[in-house]
Amino acid sequence: MKRLFVISGSSGVGKGTVIKEFLKRNPGFKLSVSCTTRNKRPGEIDGESYHFISRDEFKKGIEDNDFLEWAEFSNNCYGTRKSNIEQALKNGENIILEIETQGAMQVKKQIADAVLIFIAPPSFEELKKRLEGRQTENPEAIRTRLAQAEREQNDSKNYDHIIINDTIQNAVENLEKIISQYLI
Ligand code: 5GP
Repeated sequence: MKRLFVISGSSGVGKGTVIKEFLKRNPGFKLSVSCTTRNKRPGEIDGESYHFISRDEFKKGIEDNDFLEWAEFSNNCYGTRKSNIEQALKNGENIILEIETQGAMQVKKQIADAVLIFIAPPSFEELKKRLEGRQTENPEAIRTRLAQAEREQNDSKNYDHIIINDTIQNAVENLEKIISQYLI
């Protein structure tokens, strides 16, 4: 592994799209595939979007100390397997973790030179509109995610960089500029 970049951002902010576009333009990076206990959304592929596992499997992973970091988010568990990072280390890859802020703090404690980047919405109103518009969550889940968004926005003060996702194009270019500072 050359460098580990952690990218966080509130649910609905469009970080998935920004990261996907970044990876298309910068093929030398590897996106770590997380484990989650949440249900698969339409179009998601097991082993690509996430490793979809049961609560029991997740619990066993915690007991076996398999996770570099993990967190409970919107009533589901999400975690990064240490083996993903070790594999990237062996392959000499720059790795990107797309994780929420509690997990990001755990990574920073263990890997001091990890770079933390937060993607923020232009406004809270805009975030609400995007979350409601994508129609993947019910109203209750949207309320939970908006509350999480406020907490995450607050955690973003611990990040090295903040990018405002006003347009995908701008956000991707800013991400490229930030990441290129760390690559020699
Ligand atoms: P979603 O359910 O929308 O895919 O993800 C919910 C949140 O969990 C997002 O903020 C996403 O970045 C975060 N997340 C995804 N994978 C991980 C992980 O491995 N660890 C942690 N801590 N958060 C994750």
